[in-house]
Formats: sequence, structure tokens, C-alpha cells
Amino acid sequence: MKGKVYLVGAGPGDYKLLTLKGLECVQKADVIVYDRLANENYLKEAKPNCEFIYVGKASSNHTLPQEDINRVIADKAKEGKIVTRLKGGDPYVFGRGGEEGELLREEGIEFEVVPGITSAIGGLCYAGIPITHRDYASSFHVITGHLREDDKENPEINWNALANTNGTLVFLMGVANLQKISSNLIKEGKSKDTPVALISWATRYNQRVVISTLENVYETAIKEGVKPPTLIVVGEVVGLRDKLNFFENKPLFSKRVIVTRSRTQSSSLVEKISDLGGNPIEIPTIKIDKIENNIELENEINNIKDYTYLVLTSKNGVDIFFDKLDEMGLDSRALANLKVCAIGSATAKEIKNRGIKADIVPEKFVAEYLFEELKPMLKSTDKVLMPRAKNARDYLVDKIGEICEVKEIHTYETVVDSTRKDEVLELLDQDNADYITFASSSTVKNFVEIIGEENIDKLNNIKVISIGPITTQTIKELGLNLYKEAEVSTIDGMISTIIEDK
Ligand code: SAH
Repeated sequence: MKGKVYLVGAGPGDYKLLTLKGLECVQKADVIVYDRLANENYLKEAKPNCEFIYVGKASSNHTLPQEDINRVIADKAKEGKIVTRLKGGDPYVFGRGGEEGELLREEGIEFEVVPGITSAIGGLCYAGIPITHRDYASSFHVITGHLREDDKENPEINWNALANTNGTLVFLMGVANLQKISSNLIKEGKSKDTPVALISWATRYNQRVVISTLENVYETAIKEGVKPPTLIVVGEVVGLRDKLNFFENKPLFSKRVIVTRSRTQSSSLVEKISDLGGNPIEIPTIKIDKIENNIELENEINNIKDYTYLVLTSKNGVDIFFDKLDEMGLDSRALANLKVCAIGSATAKEIKNRGIKADIVPEKFVAEYLFEELKPMLKSTDKVLMPRAKNARDYLVDKIGEICEVKEIHTYETVVDSTRKDEVLELLDQDNADYITFASSSTVKNFVEIIGEENIDKLNNIKVISIGPITTQTIKELGLNLYKEAEVSTIDGMISTIIEDK
């Protein structure tokens, strides 16, 4: 087996600013080599046993020297592995991608380069600054701000040319040399009043933009404590920011929201938070352990004609049930004679994905509501099949059982996922979150189990958001302080609650 290396531009930071090809390289990698500018959430897309190698935290001594990075990449590829090297922005824009490629070439290792959205263009865009504009700039120049010690003998940068173009100037890696940059430009004739933008952590929830002029920018940067990674943008286009700043005006911009979820559940909440400009911090609290070789389920599917109702109470339950049908050579037609009930809209959507429109979907995602809707319809001759979690609440089964026959089959079990305890505690200790969301009682219980009851106080500075009444009850029982309960018991309901909280 021959190894291969993909040098992939991971974009400037916004999770969705990665190319389809880049994502594919992440998904097929055996090894992913990444640094601090690449969004770490991409690692979640990797194969389960993919190896992750972190090669650097800029401006600290944890950085692996370039030669060592090259070595690691080449060695892993020679072991026959697919290595994806994720680089912030575009690999060839001051990313030393060229050097990595040259070395691979020398060693006879096959490689491909996947371009990415460079911060030098995309970062400006998210700050509301178009890099060119017919009225203000008809060219742009991307320049390293990482200047050599003796600037006079450094032919790399022609200050005179830069000062005398009307194009937009974008300096990368320039914060430490800001004074040199601005004074050189002024000395060579650029107007002192030229607007300058300093864009830090562009395209991320923590993007920060400081506006100044060429004359004052150094002092402004000191006063505002501007740190890398920052883009320095010099030119009249900076003035367009007032009109074109769409990103920082998003409803959840800068909000950090802990999302407690089961890893296998759909991460629509996570996705919506980031689409709205916030930073979702996903904490999986439960894992789904599917019950394997489920003979009981197979038996009931074989007898499905005896049933009149099928009740599905979670997305996982839907997936496992329909996968089993498929495995048995059946499809949704096997359910043609049944009424299908979903406990909430997310479950209903998943059922729809499998080709069936649920007959009953209660307004609230709660067993009590589902029962209220079912009750008037059920007759004593009905027979209800409920494939669901082993540790689910008894309520529905008991209540339905008072009216007609009901068969509960355990198809999976939820178990607490404590693998990230230390990480979670660190997050809470560093006050790194504004909100924490709970979408079910079990996530509350499991979250508390993960952090330990002795650490509940660490949630005091975080606003606790509940999806609905049952979850709220658990939140209170376990001694957490509820901040708000969603008016509508859905993911969107929780999001609205956060958006409206000003
Ligand atoms: N290949 C990268 C650039 C690597 S050099 C690209 O195409 O974007 C590293 C420098 O890029 C940083 O010092 C900073 O100036 C800039 N940079 C990269 N990502 C950034 C971001 N999200 N926000 C601000 N600056 C960023």
C-alpha cells in the first residue's frame, strides 16, 4: 500500500469555509497533522481511529520546527498512510506549503494540494471589507509582516512601491512589526490618514476588528491589546466596513454556547449556532450502545402485521429500527398498515427521511403530550410496538398499556460518556462559555455525572437553558440554576431563547 499526502487549505476559521475536497481529505485520512489556525472541529469529521498530530501553537515554545513537521508527514506517508496536512487559510499563502511539497517530491512521496480560502481575502470579507472595489482599489497586495532584522538589506519588501500604489495592502504575521510597517509606508509617501483595519481571529466567533489610521495604528494596537493572529489591512476599502459588515451583525455573534448532546444525535443545534455567528462547544454526554443481534426486534418485525401502531421516540430509535428493516430485506412498505407516531418534530423528520410521514407528532417533545394525542384514538383491540432505549421512562408504556396491548423492545442503551471530563472542567474553570443548553433530562443527569456533583458550582456563571418542562425539572432536582426554559420545546425554541436574551 502506498501512502499519500494531501496539503489542505483549511480556510480562515469559520467551520464551513472548507472546500468539499478538503473535507473529503479529512474524512479519508489515517493521520491528520494540524496547527492552531485550522479549525479543530474538522477533526470530528475524521475516521474513528484516525491519528491526530498537533504541530504548533504560534508564539509559544510548543511549536514543532518546520523540519520536524516535514519529517512527521513524510514518515507517516512512508508507512503507507494517507496523511492530511491541514493548514490555515491557503497552503501556499505564507503557509510554507511549497517547502512541504518540495520535500515530499524529493522523497518520492505522492501528494496533492487542495487550495483553501486565504485569510488575506476571506478574513477581510467577514470584517466587511472587500479587498477590491471599483471606486477604491483596483489591485491588492498580500505581504509578510515577518520582517528580517536588518530591514535595509531586505530586498523582499519594496516599501516605496507599496506606498505608492492605491491597491489594498494586507500584511500577515505583522503585529509585532506594526510600527515598522506603518512608519515605512508613511516615509515612502503613503498618506498618514489612510484607514487601517486590524482583524484578529477573522471569520471566527471571536473575530475582533480595530479601526485606525496609518499614523495612529501602532498606538491603537497597543491600547487595544491586539495580538496575533491578526490581519493588517491598509487602504480606502476599510471604510466600507460600516455598510458591509454582515458577520458581526449576526444574532449570536460572539456567543459561546455549550451544547450537551449525544454524539450520535444530529448536531443541528451546533450547526445552527455557528450559522448564526456563535461558537457552539459540543460536549457529548451520552453514547448510544446499540443492542446487537436483536432477535426480539427481528421477531416483532416478522410479526409486524399484528400491530396497529408504531411509536418511535428518538432519532436513534428511528435509525436502528429502519436499519433493521433494511437488514431484513424490507422497507417502509412493511409498515403500510400501521399508524406511525413520533415523539417530536426531529423524530418525525427522521421518519420522513425513511419515506414515511408520521401520523401523530405532538406539539411538545414530551411523552405526556404524545399520550394525550394518542389516547382518544386508541382502542382496546389496538396493538402498539415501541422499539426504544433500554433506560427510557416508563410513562408511555404504562399509560398505553392501560388501554391496549403494548410491546416495548429495547433497541439501544444510552451510557454516560465520561471521556472528556478534564476538558469540560477546564472549560468551566476558564469561564469560557456564556450558555449551556440541555435538550433532555438524561443529558442533564449525564452531564452532572461527568463533571461530578462537587463541581456543579462551576456552572454558576453560565446561563442554563432548558428545552422544556421535564428537562427543567431535572435541572432543578440536580441543583443547577435554571436561567430560561424554551417557550417551544424544540432546538429552534432553545435558539430563540438565546437570541432574545439580550
Ligand atoms: N496560509 C494562511 C496564512 C498563514 S501565515 C492563510 O492563507 O490565511 C499566518 C498569518 O495569517 C497570521 O499571523 C495572521 O496574520 C494571518 N491569519 C491567518 N488566519 C487568520 C485569521 N483567522 N484571522 C486573522 N489573521 C489570520
